[in-house]
Amino acid sequence: MKALSVKQPWANMIAMGKKTIETRTWQTSYRGPLLICSSKVPLIEPAGKALCIVELYAIAPMLPEHEKAACCEIYDGAYSWFLQGLLLLPEPFEVRGMPGLFEVELPQCGMCGDLIPKGAYVCDKCQNEEIMRQEMERRGPPQKGDDDWEAGCDWS
Ligand SMILES: [Zn+2]
Repeated sequence: MKALSVKQPWANMIAMGKKTIETRTWQTSYRGPLLICSSKVPLIEPAGKALCIVELYAIAPMLPEHEKAACCEIYDGAYSWFLQGLLLLPEPFEVRGMPGLFEVELPQCGMCGDLIPKGAYVCDKCQNEEIMRQEMERRGPPQKGDDDWEAGCDWS
């Protein structure tokens, strides 16, 4: 899967869900799951390891209102990379970081640690559970008219 090295302490901030915008002076047309790897310098643990998976869903020139989610101040030529759907790896593993986006083969399911097919990042079981969870989130609490709305409630 696609991976990105992020300097500490920002890598940890992404893994904690505090930082939902990564900033770069370059952009990419890639959108999708992104493995966040902690740089080795500065030496802040866990250094040199893959920490979490996020979804890169948009990139736009950085604006002052992005500073809070980016945990940094705006700078010349900065692009905001918008991240969502944080998935903490059960076990961070060593990665040799490279500049730009690079390819890393995930050794195990990013959610449960089970073995996964080559090229995947979660196992089929977790993927199905995640799809169901997102579906529930999208729909919110049951509404009148839903199939699972309790029969017998008459709000009319
Ligand atoms: Zn799994």
